Amino acid sequence: MIDLDALRERLLPERDGAVHDSIPELADADPERCGLAIAGADGAVRRSRDADLPFSVQSAVKPFLFALALLDTGGAAHDRVGIEPTGEAFDAIKLESGTGRPPNPMVNAGALLTAALVDGGDAQGRAERIRSGLSAFAGRDLVVDEDVARSEHLLGDRNHALAHLMRAEGTLALEADDAVAAYARACAVLVDAEALAVMGATLALGGCNPVTGERVVPTHIARDVVSVMASCGVYDGSGRWMRSVGVPAKSSVSGAIVLSAPGVLGAAIVSPPLDDQGTSVRGRIGSELLSAELGLHLFGADQP
Ligand code: GLN
Repeated sequence: MIDLDALRERLLPERDGAVHDSIPELADADPERCGLAIAGADGAVRRSRDADLPFSVQSAVKPFLFALALLDTGGAAHDRVGIEPTGEAFDAIKLESGTGRPPNPMVNAGALLTAALVDGGDAQGRAERIRSGLSAFAGRDLVVDEDVARSEHLLGDRNHALAHLMRAEGTLALEADDAVAAYARACAVLVDAEALAVMGATLALGGCNPVTGERVVPTHIARDVVSVMASCGVYDGSGRWMRSVGVPAKSSVSGAIVLSAPGVLGAAIVSPPLDDQGTSVRGRIGSELLSAELGLHLFGADQP
């Protein structure tokens, strides 16, 4: 079995990338930090050092928001958000031409919409529904970092712009500020590599949490979400990711990457320095090594 501490040691000398500085709480992140975890189909979780350090989930929340939105709308969320890759940055101020829908649920426009589609009655109910839904994916009670939530809400100018644009297009029913608040709180949920690996495993294993045994979403929803992670999860780096790693994944500006290897396992790597696409540098290299070592590449079958 793979030695995650040894893999971590191989990643630490990598010095490329820069810590994201959109909010003070992210700018303060320790660039030396690096944690890895794997959650298998049998519910066994393996972890490296630092796998228990908390960080805000940021965009790694997007697959799970999409799943909850699909669940709560009985699938109608599919009509409200596209599923095509954009080839653009995660916060591009752009909607699908012709429809005014967000291009996909893995960019900010899409996640603002999916967060708004989660059913909670009012803002407080929605926030709680998102927190408890994410907790079910993780198999433990997750909490929101209130400072991060406040900063994300106050300083997320591009998210405010996107929400207003969707209002103008008639594709966002919720008040723009309420949608930004819901998404900001979702991004501010604290996880660690271990929790995120279990979340990824729950999607990879058809919506059933391998640690708790709880069915969190139906199989068809898990399949749809992992499909969109495969094509759109690493933004304008998704094509290269699929070639070099070959595992559906979602990146985030806190430096976390969640991977869902269909039918096999979930994994997470967190290391704050990012490349130009907002993907953790050590996370990407670690994912390549993990995929190679465990034979996870979806299209990497040997010739019979
Ligand atoms: N909260 C961040 C934002 O909305 C998340 C972006 C990301 O992780 N790529 O800008």
